Amino acid sequence: MTDILSSYLGGQWVAPTDEGTVLVDAATGEPITRISAQPLDYAPVLDYARTVGGPALRELTFTGRAAILKQLGKYLSERIPAFTEVSLRTGATRRDAMVDVDGGINALFVYGSKGGRQLPDSNVLPDGDFEALGKGGTFGVAHILTPRTGAAVQINAFNFPVWGMLEKFAPAFLAGVPSVVKPASATAYLTETVVRAMVESGLLPDGALQLVCARPDGLVEQLTAQDSLAVTGSYQTAATLRTHPAVVASGARFTAEADSLNSSVLGPDVSVDDPEFEVYVKGLVTEMTQKAGQKCTAIRRAFVPAAMVDAVADAAVARLQKVTVGPPADETSRMGALANQRQRADVREAVARLQKAADTVFGDPESVPANFAAGADFAAGAFLSPILLRATDPNREELHEIEAFGPVATLIPYQSAEQLAALIARGNGSLAASLVTHDDAFAAQVVLAAAPWHGRILVVNRDSAGESTGHGAAVAQAVHGGPGRAGGGEELGGLRAVEHYLQRTAVQGGPDVIAAVVGGAQ
Ligand code: NAP
Repeated sequence: MTDILSSYLGGQWVAPTDEGTVLVDAATGEPITRISAQPLDYAPVLDYARTVGGPALRELTFTGRAAILKQLGKYLSERIPAFTEVSLRTGATRRDAMVDVDGGINALFVYGSKGGRQLPDSNVLPDGDFEALGKGGTFGVAHILTPRTGAAVQINAFNFPVWGMLEKFAPAFLAGVPSVVKPASATAYLTETVVRAMVESGLLPDGALQLVCARPDGLVEQLTAQDSLAVTGSYQTAATLRTHPAVVASGARFTAEADSLNSSVLGPDVSVDDPEFEVYVKGLVTEMTQKAGQKCTAIRRAFVPAAMVDAVADAAVARLQKVTVGPPADETSRMGALANQRQRADVREAVARLQKAADTVFGDPESVPANFAAGADFAAGAFLSPILLRATDPNREELHEIEAFGPVATLIPYQSAEQLAALIARGNGSLAASLVTHDDAFAAQVVLAAAPWHGRILVVNRDSAGESTGHGAAVAQAVHGGPGRAGGGEELGGLRAVEHYLQRTAVQGGPDVIAAVVGGAQ
């Protein structure tokens, strides 16, 4: 790795000239590299995307771009072991790396495959059929979708340095829109590693991808009407950028994926001996410990029938006690470290606030984890015990407002489906919810009540558990995003995400001219 991260701009790697800020290994605190503390001149960056990247991409068709995504997926797949080694330094275990690295590459395959099968070999995507607007049928309307001609600026969060980039890049690329990627500073070295491979592959048209490893000041000021801005990060960052005068004035498309107090519900039909009980507890512990809980979709609020809270707490503790916390590279570590000391301090602070409304069932944020790997350094690494809390009163606002972005979940008792629906809604909009129940009527009632507040809801029972992708997995086929606090965005969901980078236009005229326009799709 270079001493300081370069940006990939205008078709070349550009090293910064300032000293920059040191980025450290999550588990040891050792310096890895540095990242510039200065902004770039963003006008030429966006200009290159619009004048070189966009035209080069639009010289290809949907089908042509889909084929490149597949080839790129293959190229990157061959390098997964190397990416995984770098990923370990972010605090992610090898198993965690599969979610970020393999999961991100999988998004390339899904969009490559869907694009190849479902999109035309042109740059015109018909949206519905010709509809006559007069009795004679000489005049009517058809809708088409065509690539927007601006840049897709993508600002990503620290927790998924690969998946976060590729799940945005793939739909933009398929649409024919060039990406300008700004990774979060803390883990930008992993994004940079993967972008180097993408560039080296020689598969990408000039200008299709640029990487910004620098401060973002002045970036959104360059947005214009055909550009788009997709932000993943905290609610605060999303709100700041959504209301930024330059963003508002530009007319650029804006979308955000922000934080979320995701719910997981154990159905009232489930007893300790039912298979659903184990499915629920296992899912809860997985969500707490995978990526050390640093997943936007992780379970934060675990709703359990009041009479079952003791049983769920006991079963979860029995599993948590077996979770070895330790160096991500160590094969025996079930949970690695948080990304850095700042994240650990933030999580500790959030847990302290949650503890005003909840008792601690497992874990102490200040102490060495119960099952800590020998030789790991608790002071130098950003390690934290998994922490399970239990609400004293389900109505306390802390439970529904505070996101501890780490291995932290709270058990919350509920008494009825109506109360449950009201409590879930107090998250004010979430990315994901899950229900573990064998009672389809209960599931339907809760899903319909919770749907307006969620981008994705997963229902699992004994029959589907074996094939379930799990509560937290944002698969490319399913919508990822959520209303309200979750940012109001809608990423992935198959080809729905591609449409964000296309303009829908109603073309009115006679059937022949409309056929000629849409004919670009043949
Ligand atoms: P963050 O502090 O909000 O930062 C997110 C990104 O925004 C980073 O790249 C950051 O750059 C950049 N940024 C911050 N202020 C900016 C500004 N004024 N102009 C332009 N860019 C700006 O979030 P984070 O700590 O990286 O991630 C954790 C949060 O993200 C959690 O709340 C989590 O729930 C949420 N998250 C949501 C999703 C989702 O899909 N909904 C996924 C992952 C994470 P620097 O890093 O360089 O400061």
